[in-house]
Amino acid sequence: MTGKRRKLAAHLCLLIFICASAMLGQHATTPCSSCAEWNTPQTPFRIFGNSYYVGTHALSSVLITSPSGHVLIDGDLPESAAQIAANIKSLGLRLEDVKLIVNSHVHFDHAGGIAELQRRSGARVVASPWSAEVLKKGGVARDDPQSGTIRGIIPVKNVSTFRDGASFHVGTTTITAHLTAGHTPGGTSWTWKSCDANVCHDMVYADSLNPVSAPGFKFSDSRAYPQALQDFRKSFAFFDATPCDILITAHPEFSELLDRFAARERGAKPDPMVDSAACRRYAASGREKLRQRLADEAKP
Ligand SMILES: [Zn+2]
Repeated sequence: MTGKRRKLAAHLCLLIFICASAMLGQHATTPCSSCAEWNTPQTPFRIFGNSYYVGTHALSSVLITSPSGHVLIDGDLPESAAQIAANIKSLGLRLEDVKLIVNSHVHFDHAGGIAELQRRSGARVVASPWSAEVLKKGGVARDDPQSGTIRGIIPVKNVSTFRDGASFHVGTTTITAHLTAGHTPGGTSWTWKSCDANVCHDMVYADSLNPVSAPGFKFSDSRAYPQALQDFRKSFAFFDATPCDILITAHPEFSELLDRFAARERGAKPDPMVDSAACRRYAASGREKLRQRLADEAKP
């Protein structure tokens, strides 16, 4: 290749790289120093009844099974999709039987794997109106508190939306959506019942309540997301009130989920996975984090 041609080829490569990055969404190439650790493999396990943990060691993904179709909550990182698929298979279940995929919030560490899991399962994807827009476009929304600092998500096809409080039926499972915004403007938590013999528990998959943001963003005064505080307060009130026997958080560490499972495996009684005060404690810790954050924002 001549020098001129080599230069032209280099420019073309750069252009293709920029276009591919733009198509994948804003900040698709932002480095993620925690991703490898977040993606540490985790042996799947039964949480209770027909609810299984199929996520990675640091990012939750939950499968709710029924004889005529399953529901999957969260797809974790793009690189987690293969692991979630393998976890489902190792439980003797089929990814192709997942009929519905939902999410907690559309950051790359919870919704990054959804495109691939949808492609492999053919499942329907539903999301809150704000989250659906992000899923369809990919990237990171401009009014996201972390816009500009995190990786974007891979776009997802055929996403439909729901209203707060909507329920979905898949086989014998009924799962209900609750808007619990604040961490993002479209955050959603999910409730359903799981039963084992004649014992039934209220299950809660809780979205993040962390007031984290890009530098310069203020939850107390954001033109991009003016209702942030109002949303957080509504979310705390939801967790104070919702029936909650088993809490699963989008990051398992925020509800000590894997520690509780390990304690159960050691034979601890009563079952450490069951704790009807867990959602109220989760609300209280969210309130405290927001209080600290607002105190920081008020400093001159
Ligand atoms: Zn997030």
